[in-house]
Amino acid sequence: MNPTTSEFHPLAPSVQSVFDTVTARDPHEPEFHQAVHEVLHSIAPVLEKHPEFVEAGVLERLVEPERQVMFRVPWIDDAGRLHVNRGYRIQFSSALGPYKGGLRFHPSVNLSIIKFLGFEQIFKNALTGQGIGGGKGGADFDPHGKSDAEVMRFCQSFMNELFRHIGEQTDVPAGDIGVGSREIGYMFGMYRKITNRHETGVLTGKGIGWGGAQVRTEATGYGAVFFAQEMLAVHGESLEGKRVAVSGSGNVAIYAIEKATQLGARAVTASDSSGYVVDESGIDLALLRQIKEVERGRIVEYARRRPGARFIEGGSVWETPVDVAIPAATQNELDFDSAETLVGNGVRVVVEGANMPTTPEAVEIFQRAGVLFAPGKAANAGGVATSALEMSQNASRQRWGFAESEQRLRDIMADVHHASFYAAERFDAPGDYVVGANCAAFERVASAMLAQGVI
Ligand code: GLU
Repeated sequence: MNPTTSEFHPLAPSVQSVFDTVTARDPHEPEFHQAVHEVLHSIAPVLEKHPEFVEAGVLERLVEPERQVMFRVPWIDDAGRLHVNRGYRIQFSSALGPYKGGLRFHPSVNLSIIKFLGFEQIFKNALTGQGIGGGKGGADFDPHGKSDAEVMRFCQSFMNELFRHIGEQTDVPAGDIGVGSREIGYMFGMYRKITNRHETGVLTGKGIGWGGAQVRTEATGYGAVFFAQEMLAVHGESLEGKRVAVSGSGNVAIYAIEKATQLGARAVTASDSSGYVVDESGIDLALLRQIKEVERGRIVEYARRRPGARFIEGGSVWETPVDVAIPAATQNELDFDSAETLVGNGVRVVVEGANMPTTPEAVEIFQRAGVLFAPGKAANAGGVATSALEMSQNASRQRWGFAESEQRLRDIMADVHHASFYAAERFDAPGDYVVGANCAAFERVASAMLAQGVI
């Protein structure tokens, strides 16, 4: 656990015991503790207004996943060697709908990471208003440097166990870090073969030609930028002419850069684990996509091929002076020092494109400095919201066009912003999107749990 978390945010006595139970029961899950702590810290005013939530033990139940599955994933590489990875699916809450959330394939994956992501997903999905519960899964598999055939065999082995736990009315996985349409394709194929059912809505993020939805690929990045637009609009401002720093170079980063650019901002950075690039004339998306999506190469290639762009090895993207920062790489990538640097350089808006990319200390720095800060569970909800649109289209056998789908995403992000903004006002924390998003989401989930009894 981040040792300074509780110094920054002391918990109300009413929720401290819930947090103590979580840390005592699972002491080695720091990321999960961090995610739970942030929610518990925010929702005290909801509990004051609704003592019935406390009486019904909503919190004690909510912090314990409904079901946790861990399994062996054996696979054979191209040289004939056997590898064994660990697979996970955490089915956290189905109060509002079937479990819904992505699968992450990354060497850092462990139970703590999947539980934090699953816990966040409950509230994010509630904010979308789309009738989806919360879940998450993945494996400690590193897709980097693996051949297509190896990735396929891994995905098939993963689905060979996962299939028995999912279904379009039960649990609907999608992508996350390391899982895109290639992996979803291999997993969907294996599910179809094992079950002998073309159950289109069992996974989202599918290819457009076989049940996938328009705008799903772009949705998380686009949605984060729409959220930034909504925040700025409250203050009579727009993205026009703003300088933007985006971290990461995956799906979220690429489409955040694209939408920010379309809306008149200039996105000047992208990064990966080796360092970052600064391109003062604005990131060339065609080149970035060629390197990252087609060649699956490193970000240094961008600077090699783009005149005027610089590569800063091992540096932090947050050293770049900007008006808007969109952390879109991974959890806890933006820390106290980075936040101080950004504030010192005059940042005005920080929008989390990734899940929990900002440490609690960094959030505190932004809020004290009056920076508009949007937590991921609100700002990056566009991805999973568009997954829900994919489920709707699959269930009704409809296909919506790009423009219609993008408009639906825009409307959903405006609703998520509205719900978070007004919940912050209602609970005496105007402008605090962390409190607003947590309270609005928790009210929805807790009300459903109360209505459905102790289960
Ligand atoms: N992995 C994404 C998220 O963090 C999307 C999940 C989904 O589409 O189910 O929200």
